[in-house]
Amino acid sequence: MVVEEPGRPLAQRDLAEPRAQAGEVLIRVHACGVCRTDLHITDGELPLHKRPIVPGHQVVGVVEEPSYGKRFKAGDRVGVAWLASACGACRYCREGLENLCEKALFTGYDRDGGYAELVTADERFCYPIPPGYPDLSAAPLLCGGLIGFRAWRMCGPVERIGFYGFGSAAHIILQVARNAGQRTYAFVRTGDVAAERFALDRGADWAGDSMRPAQDPLDAAIIFAAAGELVPAALRAVRPGGTVVCAGIHMSDIPSFPYSILWGERVLRSVANLTRQDGIDFLELAPTIPIEAFVETHPLSDANLALGRLRAGSILGSAVLVVGPDA
Ligand SMILES: [Zn+2]
Ligand SMILES: [Zn+2]
Repeated sequence: MVVEEPGRPLAQRDLAEPRAQAGEVLIRVHACGVCRTDLHITDGELPLHKRPIVPGHQVVGVVEEPSYGKRFKAGDRVGVAWLASACGACRYCREGLENLCEKALFTGYDRDGGYAELVTADERFCYPIPPGYPDLSAAPLLCGGLIGFRAWRMCGPVERIGFYGFGSAAHIILQVARNAGQRTYAFVRTGDVAAERFALDRGADWAGDSMRPAQDPLDAAIIFAAAGELVPAALRAVRPGGTVVCAGIHMSDIPSFPYSILWGERVLRSVANLTRQDGIDFLELAPTIPIEAFVETHPLSDANLALGRLRAGSILGSAVLVVGPDA
Protein backbone atom coordinates (compact mmCIF):
# COMPACT_ATOMS: atom_id res chain seq x y z
CA MET A 1 0.00 0.00 0.00
CA VAL A 2 1.76 3.14 -1.18
CA VAL A 3 1.50 6.91 -0.94
CA GLU A 4 1.62 8.20 -4.50
CA GLU A 5 -0.04 11.56 -4.08
CA PRO A 6 -0.29 13.26 -0.67
CA GLY A 7 -3.88 13.88 0.34
CA ARG A 8 -5.11 10.87 -1.64
CA PRO A 9 -5.85 7.39 -0.28
CA LEU A 10 -3.05 4.83 -0.36
CA ALA A 11 -2.92 2.84 -3.58
CA GLN A 12 -2.56 -0.94 -3.70
CA ARG A 13 0.34 -1.73 -6.04
CA ASP A 14 2.40 -4.75 -7.04
CA LEU A 15 5.98 -3.61 -6.57
CA ALA A 16 9.19 -5.43 -7.44
CA GLU A 17 10.37 -7.53 -4.50
CA PRO A 18 12.89 -5.57 -2.42
CA ARG A 19 16.42 -7.00 -2.31
CA ALA A 20 18.61 -6.84 0.76
CA GLN A 21 21.93 -5.05 0.30
CA ALA A 22 25.09 -5.60 2.36
CA GLY A 23 24.27 -5.33 6.07
CA GLU A 24 20.55 -5.57 5.47
CA VAL A 25 17.94 -8.19 6.19
CA LEU A 26 14.96 -9.08 4.07
CA ILE A 27 11.87 -9.40 6.26
CA ARG A 28 8.57 -11.09 5.55
CA VAL A 29 6.09 -8.79 7.29
CA HIS A 30 3.54 -10.35 9.64
CA ALA A 31 2.09 -7.21 11.18
CA CYS A 32 2.56 -3.46 10.97
CA GLY A 33 1.21 -0.96 13.45
CA VAL A 34 -0.62 2.15 12.24
CA CYS A 35 0.84 5.39 13.59
CA ARG A 36 -0.34 8.98 13.44
CA THR A 37 2.88 9.78 11.56
CA ASP A 38 1.66 7.49 8.74
CA LEU A 39 -1.41 9.70 8.61
CA HIS A 40 0.68 12.90 8.51
CA ILE A 41 2.67 11.41 5.59
CA THR A 42 -0.45 10.22 3.74
CA ASP A 43 -2.33 13.47 4.29
CA GLY A 44 0.63 15.64 3.19
CA GLU A 45 1.18 17.30 6.58
CA LEU A 46 4.79 16.16 6.32
CA PRO A 47 6.62 16.76 3.01
CA LEU A 48 7.30 13.50 1.17
CA HIS A 49 10.97 12.47 1.01
CA LYS A 50 10.36 9.73 -1.53
CA ARG A 51 7.53 9.04 -3.90
CA PRO A 52 5.95 6.57 -4.05
CA ILE A 53 6.65 5.53 -0.48
CA VAL A 54 5.41 2.49 1.40
CA PRO A 55 4.53 3.82 4.88
CA GLY A 56 4.68 1.88 8.14
CA HIS A 57 7.36 1.88 10.85
CA GLN A 58 6.06 -0.57 13.45
CA VAL A 59 6.98 -3.70 11.58
CA VAL A 60 7.09 -7.21 13.00
CA GLY A 61 8.20 -10.01 10.70
CA VAL A 62 10.56 -12.87 10.10
CA VAL A 63 13.99 -12.74 8.47
CA GLU A 64 14.03 -14.38 5.03
CA GLU A 65 16.74 -15.55 2.66
CA PRO A 66 18.60 -14.00 1.04
CA SER A 67 19.74 -11.59 3.71
CA TYR A 68 23.26 -10.23 4.02
CA GLY A 69 23.48 -9.39 7.70
CA LYS A 70 25.40 -11.26 10.37
CA ARG A 71 23.21 -10.41 13.29
CA PHE A 72 20.09 -12.41 12.44
CA LYS A 73 19.46 -15.71 10.74
CA ALA A 74 16.56 -16.81 8.57
CA GLY A 75 13.45 -17.38 10.68
CA ASP A 76 14.37 -14.90 13.43
CA ARG A 77 11.50 -12.65 14.44
CA VAL A 78 12.51 -8.99 14.29
CA GLY A 79 11.01 -5.54 14.61
CA VAL A 80 11.70 -2.45 12.53
CA ALA A 81 11.02 0.97 14.02
CA TRP A 82 11.04 4.60 12.85
CA LEU A 83 14.83 5.15 12.97
CA ALA A 84 16.03 3.25 9.90
CA SER A 85 19.65 4.40 10.06
CA ALA A 86 21.97 7.05 11.47
CA CYS A 87 25.43 8.08 10.25
CA GLY A 88 27.36 7.26 13.42
CA ALA A 89 29.78 10.13 12.77
CA CYS A 90 27.98 13.47 13.24
CA ARG A 91 28.08 15.34 16.55
CA TYR A 92 24.66 14.01 17.57
CA CYS A 93 25.57 10.40 16.86
CA ARG A 94 28.82 10.81 18.80
CA GLU A 95 26.96 12.29 21.77
CA GLY A 96 24.43 9.46 22.06
CA LEU A 97 21.73 11.47 20.31
CA GLU A 98 21.40 9.48 17.10
CA ASN A 99 17.70 10.38 17.18
CA LEU A 100 18.85 13.85 16.02
CA CYS A 101 21.37 12.56 13.43
CA GLU A 102 21.74 14.97 10.54
CA LYS A 103 21.73 12.10 8.07
CA ALA A 104 19.16 9.88 9.76
CA LEU A 105 16.79 7.95 7.53
CA PHE A 106 13.34 6.92 8.67
CA THR A 107 11.31 3.82 7.95
CA GLY A 108 8.20 4.40 5.89
CA TYR A 109 9.40 7.92 5.08
CA ASP A 110 12.89 7.75 3.54
CA ARG A 111 12.88 3.97 3.13
CA ASP A 112 9.94 1.80 2.22
CA GLY A 113 8.17 0.53 5.33
CA GLY A 114 5.90 -2.21 6.53
CA TYR A 115 2.59 -1.64 4.71
CA ALA A 116 3.83 -4.43 2.45
CA GLU A 117 4.55 -8.14 2.36
CA LEU A 118 8.33 -7.70 2.25
CA VAL A 119 10.65 -5.01 3.54
CA THR A 120 14.41 -4.63 3.82
CA ALA A 121 16.11 -3.02 6.79
CA ASP A 122 19.60 -2.20 8.09
CA GLU A 123 20.15 -5.04 10.55
CA ARG A 124 21.83 -2.72 13.06
CA PHE A 125 18.52 -0.88 13.42
CA CYS A 126 16.33 -3.98 13.88
CA TYR A 127 15.22 -5.30 17.25
CA PRO A 128 14.78 -8.88 18.35
CA ILE A 129 11.13 -9.24 19.42
CA PRO A 130 10.83 -10.58 22.98
CA PRO A 131 9.76 -14.24 22.87
CA GLY A 132 6.16 -14.76 23.93
CA TYR A 133 4.93 -11.45 22.51
CA PRO A 134 2.42 -12.16 19.74
CA ASP A 135 3.13 -10.20 16.52
CA LEU A 136 -0.01 -8.12 16.98
CA SER A 137 0.86 -6.97 20.50
CA ALA A 138 4.48 -6.32 19.61
CA ALA A 139 3.83 -4.06 16.60
CA PRO A 140 2.39 -1.05 18.52
CA LEU A 141 5.32 -1.18 20.93
CA LEU A 142 7.69 -0.22 18.13
CA CYS A 143 6.62 3.41 17.86
CA GLY A 144 3.84 4.23 20.29
CA GLY A 145 5.82 2.27 22.86
CA LEU A 146 9.39 3.28 22.01
CA ILE A 147 8.90 6.99 21.38
CA GLY A 148 6.33 7.18 24.16
CA PHE A 149 8.92 5.64 26.46
CA ARG A 150 11.53 8.24 25.44
CA ALA A 151 8.98 10.99 26.20
CA TRP A 152 8.11 9.35 29.52
CA ARG A 153 11.77 9.22 30.56
CA MET A 154 12.07 12.96 29.78
CA CYS A 155 9.47 13.58 32.51
CA GLY A 156 11.73 12.19 35.23
CA PRO A 157 10.61 10.21 38.29
CA VAL A 158 7.42 12.17 38.97
CA GLU A 159 4.33 11.32 41.00
CA ARG A 160 1.52 12.68 38.85
CA ILE A 161 1.65 12.36 35.09
CA GLY A 162 -0.89 13.36 32.45
CA PHE A 163 -1.39 12.11 28.90
CA TYR A 164 -3.00 14.32 26.28
CA GLY A 165 -4.53 12.22 23.53
CA PHE A 166 -5.28 8.74 24.82
CA GLY A 167 -4.40 6.62 21.80
CA SER A 168 -1.82 3.99 20.95
CA ALA A 169 1.17 5.53 22.72
CA ALA A 170 -0.70 6.75 25.81
CA HIS A 171 -2.43 3.45 26.55
CA ILE A 172 0.96 1.70 26.36
CA ILE A 173 2.89 4.26 28.43
CA LEU A 174 0.09 4.36 31.01
CA GLN A 175 1.15 0.80 31.87
CA VAL A 176 4.78 1.90 32.28
CA ALA A 177 3.70 4.80 34.52
CA ARG A 178 1.44 2.60 36.66
CA ASN A 179 4.25 0.07 36.99
CA ALA A 180 6.44 2.90 38.32
CA GLY A 181 3.77 3.76 40.91
CA GLN A 182 2.75 7.04 39.27
CA ARG A 183 -0.73 8.53 39.48
CA THR A 184 -2.06 8.79 35.91
CA TYR A 185 -4.36 11.32 34.27
CA ALA A 186 -5.87 10.83 30.81
CA PHE A 187 -6.98 13.93 28.91
CA VAL A 188 -9.34 13.30 26.00
CA ARG A 189 -11.19 15.39 23.44
CA THR A 190 -14.16 17.29 24.86
CA GLY A 191 -17.14 14.94 24.96
CA ASP A 192 -15.21 11.79 23.94
CA VAL A 193 -16.92 9.55 26.46
CA ALA A 194 -15.67 6.35 24.80
CA ALA A 195 -12.02 7.42 25.14
CA GLU A 196 -12.62 8.50 28.73
CA ARG A 197 -14.15 5.15 29.63
CA PHE A 198 -11.37 3.32 27.78
CA ALA A 199 -8.69 5.20 29.76
CA LEU A 200 -10.37 4.37 33.08
CA ASP A 201 -10.79 0.73 32.00
CA ARG A 202 -7.06 0.58 31.25
CA GLY A 203 -6.30 1.79 34.76
CA ALA A 204 -5.98 5.57 34.54
CA ASP A 205 -6.67 7.17 37.94
CA TRP A 206 -8.53 10.05 36.32
CA ALA A 207 -9.90 10.85 32.88
CA GLY A 208 -11.45 14.04 31.62
CA ASP A 209 -11.66 16.95 29.21
CA SER A 210 -8.26 17.98 27.78
CA MET A 211 -9.15 21.67 27.77
CA ARG A 212 -9.61 21.80 31.55
CA PRO A 213 -6.95 21.01 34.20
CA ALA A 214 -7.51 18.03 36.49
CA GLN A 215 -8.29 18.71 40.15
CA ASP A 216 -4.65 17.99 41.12
CA PRO A 217 -1.74 19.90 39.56
CA LEU A 218 0.42 17.54 37.49
CA ASP A 219 4.18 17.10 37.79
CA ALA A 220 4.48 16.32 34.09
CA ALA A 221 2.38 15.89 30.97
CA ILE A 222 3.03 14.25 27.61
CA ILE A 223 1.12 15.51 24.58
CA PHE A 224 0.61 12.71 22.08
CA ALA A 225 -2.14 14.42 20.10
CA ALA A 226 -1.31 16.71 17.16
CA ALA A 227 -3.38 19.66 18.38
CA GLY A 228 -1.37 22.81 19.22
CA GLU A 229 -4.07 24.14 21.54
CA LEU A 230 -3.14 21.35 23.96
CA VAL A 231 0.21 23.04 24.72
CA PRO A 232 -1.26 25.95 26.73
CA ALA A 233 -3.85 23.56 28.19
CA ALA A 234 -1.10 21.24 29.45
CA LEU A 235 1.02 24.13 30.77
CA ARG A 236 -2.01 25.24 32.80
CA ALA A 237 -2.35 21.72 34.20
CA VAL A 238 1.25 21.33 35.46
CA ARG A 239 2.68 22.73 38.68
CA PRO A 240 5.63 25.15 38.85
CA GLY A 241 8.79 23.27 37.88
CA GLY A 242 6.70 20.75 35.94
CA THR A 243 7.43 19.50 32.43
CA VAL A 244 5.33 19.33 29.27
CA VAL A 245 6.69 17.03 26.56
CA CYS A 246 5.36 17.18 22.99
CA ALA A 247 5.87 13.68 21.61
CA GLY A 248 4.52 13.92 18.07
CA ILE A 249 6.37 14.71 14.84
CA HIS A 250 3.79 17.23 13.71
CA MET A 251 1.41 19.57 15.50
CA SER A 252 -0.98 22.28 14.40
CA ASP A 253 0.16 25.80 15.31
CA ILE A 254 0.32 26.54 19.01
CA PRO A 255 -1.91 29.48 19.94
CA SER A 256 -0.25 32.36 21.79
CA PHE A 257 -0.52 32.15 25.55
CA PRO A 258 0.27 34.32 28.57
CA TYR A 259 3.82 34.00 29.88
CA SER A 260 2.42 33.34 33.35
CA ILE A 261 1.58 29.72 32.46
CA LEU A 262 5.22 29.02 31.50
CA TRP A 263 6.65 31.09 34.33
CA GLY A 264 7.50 29.21 37.49
CA GLU A 265 10.24 27.19 35.79
CA ARG A 266 7.83 25.05 33.85
CA VAL A 267 9.64 23.29 31.02
CA LEU A 268 8.19 22.85 27.54
CA ARG A 269 10.08 20.52 25.21
CA SER A 270 9.65 18.13 22.34
CA VAL A 271 10.88 14.59 21.84
CA ALA A 272 12.13 13.67 18.39
CA ASN A 273 12.41 10.12 17.07
CA LEU A 274 14.26 7.52 19.13
CA THR A 275 17.67 6.06 19.72
CA ARG A 276 18.38 2.35 19.52
CA GLN A 277 19.08 2.43 23.23
CA ASP A 278 15.49 3.61 23.85
CA GLY A 279 14.33 0.58 21.89
CA ILE A 280 16.60 -1.87 23.69
CA ASP A 281 15.64 -0.52 27.12
CA PHE A 282 11.93 -0.48 26.39
CA LEU A 283 11.79 -3.95 24.83
CA GLU A 284 13.65 -5.26 27.87
CA LEU A 285 11.14 -3.62 30.22
CA ALA A 286 7.96 -4.48 28.29
CA PRO A 287 7.79 -8.23 29.09
CA THR A 288 8.54 -7.65 32.78
CA ILE A 289 5.40 -5.53 33.34
CA PRO A 290 4.08 -7.11 31.03
CA ILE A 291 2.76 -4.45 28.67
CA GLU A 292 -0.29 -5.45 26.71
CA ALA A 293 -1.42 -3.39 23.75
CA PHE A 294 -5.16 -3.20 23.13
CA VAL A 295 -5.37 -3.86 19.40
CA GLU A 296 -7.85 -3.73 16.55
CA THR A 297 -6.70 -5.49 13.40
CA HIS A 298 -7.26 -4.88 9.72
CA PRO A 299 -5.97 -6.73 6.68
CA LEU A 300 -3.25 -4.82 4.80
CA SER A 301 -5.64 -4.13 1.94
CA ASP A 302 -7.82 -2.17 4.40
CA ALA A 303 -5.01 0.23 5.35
CA ASN A 304 -7.11 3.20 4.18
CA LEU A 305 -9.93 2.11 6.47
CA ALA A 306 -7.55 1.91 9.43
CA LEU A 307 -6.08 5.35 8.62
CA GLY A 308 -9.59 6.75 8.29
CA ARG A 309 -10.52 5.43 11.72
CA LEU A 310 -7.36 6.98 13.17
CA ARG A 311 -8.13 10.32 11.48
CA ALA A 312 -11.64 10.24 12.94
CA GLY A 313 -10.37 9.44 16.44
CA SER A 314 -12.37 6.19 16.47
CA ILE A 315 -9.61 3.76 17.46
CA LEU A 316 -9.39 2.61 21.07
CA GLY A 317 -5.79 1.57 21.68
CA SER A 318 -3.76 0.63 18.60
CA ALA A 319 -4.58 -0.38 15.04
CA VAL A 320 -2.44 -3.07 13.42
CA LEU A 321 -2.38 -4.22 9.81
CA VAL A 322 -2.12 -7.95 9.45
CA VAL A 323 -0.10 -9.03 6.46
CA GLY A 324 0.04 -12.38 4.75
CA PRO A 325 -2.08 -15.50 4.77
CA ASP A 326 -3.42 -14.92 8.31
CA ALA A 327 -5.06 -11.62 7.29
ZN1 LIG B 1 24.69 11.09 12.67
ZN1 LIG C 1 5.14 6.36 14.74
